[in-house]
Amino acid sequence: MSQQKPLHEGLFTWPPGQVELLGSRCQNCGEHAFPAQSSCRACAGSETEVVSLGNQGSLWTWTIQSFMPKAPYATDETAETFRPYGVGYVEMACGLRVESRLRESSVGDLRIGMPMALELIPVRRDEDGTELLTFQFRASPETA
Ligand SMILES: [Zn+2]
Repeated sequence: MSQQKPLHEGLFTWPPGQVELLGSRCQNCGEHAFPAQSSCRACAGSETEVVSLGNQGSLWTWTIQSFMPKAPYATDETAETFRPYGVGYVEMACGLRVESRLRESSVGDLRIGMPMALELIPVRRDEDGTELLTFQFRASPETA
């Protein structure tokens, strides 16, 4: 069995089990942030705590990324192998909108307000062959 690890630490629960997105919450004013921040952008307070943002949300807005983004773009894809994908903002239960890659990649599969679920996807392998994972959202299976 091959090893896996997050591409970036601290964005989601690891090891995942039932994966949840991690953010921060200001202990002064309650503002949430993703990725987690050590100071609050709303009140400038420095008392923040890492909290789960859950793994469900609703699609706030989206677009289709139909050309390869400029660097830094940490995959093995080339202009030849690139496949379009959805990008959107998913509104979490706390009200925070998280920018995310989306599994769905065609206009007919996405609509504003649809329920979305978090999942992990392999990005590439590192030098040891360890599979590096990142998160994305997909249409929630309960309603798809
Ligand atoms: Zn605050």
